[in-house]
Amino acid sequence: MNISYIGLGSNLGESENTLQLALDDMAAHPDIHHIKCSRFYRSRPVDSSGPDYVNAVARLETGLDSLSLLHFLQSLENKHGRERPYINAPRTLDLDILLFNREVNNSAELTLPHPRMHERAFVLLPLQELAPELVLQQGSLQALLEQCKDQGIALL
Ligand code: AMP
Repeated sequence: MNISYIGLGSNLGESENTLQLALDDMAAHPDIHHIKCSRFYRSRPVDSSGPDYVNAVARLETGLDSLSLLHFLQSLENKHGRERPYINAPRTLDLDILLFNREVNNSAELTLPHPRMHERAFVLLPLQELAPELVLQQGSLQALLEQCKDQGIALL
């Protein structure tokens, strides 16, 4: 089984509900198991616009390979009405693969580990709930969180 961490975010519509529906959809997939989700957080948009985001991170186990998992997550983004009017526009649902085992991937479609996760409190804080001992290439979660403590984030 592969172990993957997924970043979930939404800042349009019924964000909390959308995240919960996406988690339910992941749990209903026959090859995704043992989903564990962090608590939900509220964060100010980083490199984006519009209302505050609701964010969470989920850990899951899957027999899917990383690209198949990405395609499944993209189908959920589409199902929950995501539109892409311009880069970093507000979104009803954003699902990112943060980590997939220790896979390093620099293909056209998929970058792993996610290239910006180490500088985003809305990823690091929920990730720390699930895997406090995790060390990224850039450092421990604790050390990385110190560097972005000015980013506004709070429990929902
Ligand atoms: P976004 O608009 O931020 O959801 O970015 C979507 C695009 O990022 C898609 O074209 C994906 O192929 C690409 N992408 C690259 N790496 C990742 C990743 N680790 N997780 C999710 N999308 C990724």
